[in-house]
Amino acid sequence: MRILLIEDEPRIAGFVARGLGEEGHQVVVAEDRAGARAALTDGPYDLLVVDRMLPDGDGLDLVRALRRQGDATPALCLTARDRVEERVEGLYGGADDYLVKPFAFDELLARIAAITRRAGAAETLQVGDLTLDLAAHRVTRAGHEITLTAKGFALLRCLAKNAGRVMSRTRLLQKVWDLEHDPGTNLVDVQISYLRARVDRDFDRPLIHTVRGVGYVLEDAAR
Ligand code: CA
Repeated sequence: MRILLIEDEPRIAGFVARGLGEEGHQVVVAEDRAGARAALTDGPYDLLVVDRMLPDGDGLDLVRALRRQGDATPALCLTARDRVEERVEGLYGGADDYLVKPFAFDELLARIAAITRRAGAAETLQVGDLTLDLAAHRVTRAGHEITLTAKGFALLRCLAKNAGRVMSRTRLLQKVWDLEHDPGTNLVDVQISYLRARVDRDFDRPLIHTVRGVGYVLEDAAR
């Protein structure tokens, strides 16, 4: 899995990153919320491990902000010892689970396994009234079924996994077409037009937005 670890204490960050790396995970470490936001533009991640007490604020606020943008990446909060209220707040704030510091590495692994099992069981992505069933390759908007080609579905899934984040054409070419370089075609734009015709045309509220000179973003908000 690709894991973003947001932790400012070098000792803990080092110990967790090393351990998860040995378990075969790819770990990116950010020291604060600003660093996490920068790392998230390079997403998606399969899991966020978020310390609450960061130099530039509460890690939970970052999770809350992501949830508001429709980002459902599982999040495990690291929280100070014996602060029960904080732990409860952690769960209400959109975190999927919490772990009280100090913790044993095995406990962290057990929590991660439980979270990813639950996340895997859901296997749907939701952006506004748009729902993607990843296992069944089924898309609905406001209850209406939308039929897509395999490539159209792959592009929509990529945008939905990164909901609220602007995806450049280059990034989409990498993620959806596996192309490292732009072949100089309008591949992405053609597929976006295709998606718009199916996902947005019959609805008042567009979900696919163009960010001029940058790329595209899927989100349930005006741009
Ligand atoms: Ca801290």
